[in-house]
Amino acid sequence: MNYLIKQYKKDTNFKIKHNYLPEQFSNVNNYIKNIKKVVKRNAFTLGEDVEKFENIFKRKIKSKYCVGVNSGTDAIFLSLKALNIGYNDEVLLPSFTFYATLNPIVAAGARPVFVDCKKDFNIDPSKIENKITPKTKAIVIVHWAGRVCDMNKIIKIAKKNRLKIIEDSCHAYLSKYKNIYAGNFGDTGCFSLHPLKNVNVWGDGGMIITRNYSLYKKIKLLRNHGLLNRERMKVFGYNSRLDTIQAGIGIEMIKTIEKITKLRNHNAKLLDSELAQINEITLPERNIIRYENFQLYCFIAKKRDKLIKFLRKNGVDAKIHYPIPMHKQEPVKKYIKKKESFPNTEFVSKNILSLPVHQYINKKNIRLMIHLIKKFYNSR
Ligand SMILES: *Cc1c(COP(=O)(O)O)cnc(C)c1O
Repeated sequence: MNYLIKQYKKDTNFKIKHNYLPEQFSNVNNYIKNIKKVVKRNAFTLGEDVEKFENIFKRKIKSKYCVGVNSGTDAIFLSLKALNIGYNDEVLLPSFTFYATLNPIVAAGARPVFVDCKKDFNIDPSKIENKITPKTKAIVIVHWAGRVCDMNKIIKIAKKNRLKIIEDSCHAYLSKYKNIYAGNFGDTGCFSLHPLKNVNVWGDGGMIITRNYSLYKKIKLLRNHGLLNRERMKVFGYNSRLDTIQAGIGIEMIKTIEKITKLRNHNAKLLDSELAQINEITLPERNIIRYENFQLYCFIAKKRDKLIKFLRKNGVDAKIHYPIPMHKQEPVKKYIKKKESFPNTEFVSKNILSLPVHQYINKKNIRLMIHLIKKFYNSR
């Protein structure tokens, strides 16, 4: 059985769950009607739904070009290929992220080089430069949990060292930094449409945004076998198209994204106001130059493992994203040099906790979570 399905099944035992899919897609008919249209047209690959969804997707975040692809992972992979990054190149990435930031770098044939994070979970700009070598071609940054990285510093470093920037914005649709939407800072911005991301479809999907026309043209070729048209091939490509049926789902779903984001952010604010007063908890500083979009609600907690156990026993699906840092993963070890260390990443993975923050969490749920956390710390 697919491990995700097993995970969802277990989740139903909690009063306050991370999984919001049953509620979100309860109005299934609105979505089915778009699928019916695709079937009627018999246009099962690319076509007008994919184009329409790309246009809506990019307009909301004020981007110039947008290409629908197979997944968030492929969005990063095709970005690297379009930028001619591969064998003999080094690519920087944060050591604290989901594994899908790393895999496409390795798949492209490049060597991943890890940079430690700060205690706000994002890449530490002050640790980037001493990882740069003559082979370094690009940096993949991650706007963790919807919190945009320190882009001023990162752009400066990238310019000085002629590095391409790929933004893993899989958590950050509608997030902003100094009034610019995440994904618009780098050469490309990469998004996932996975069911557990904020813009989500009924399977896999991804989006790439860019301001660069020639990159846009190249990515469009790469996602569809490198074909200019039915007969003529321009480059070697892949099959990484955004599925047309999923685009139809996306067109319907994305109508609600502003509302979902507002509710998530409202919930985060309510949690913030109480949790900030608990000594044993450290929230990332909420910087006014950032408009965060709470894909996840994460913080640092003392006695984390005991707190998680306590919350889960009391019906709250508290989670760890992610307990084993990248550099400790078995296949990754060969890329780590002896003298390299990632103290913040290790600290974060030992102390981070995520609470459900999605649009179906209500005030009562939040009061209960806060009550339980206060009870846990006061009783010790
Ligand atoms: C989900 C995710 C991805 C990739 O998403 P898929 O669509 O599942 O391939 C990449 N990076 C981060 C940080 C993610 O959370």
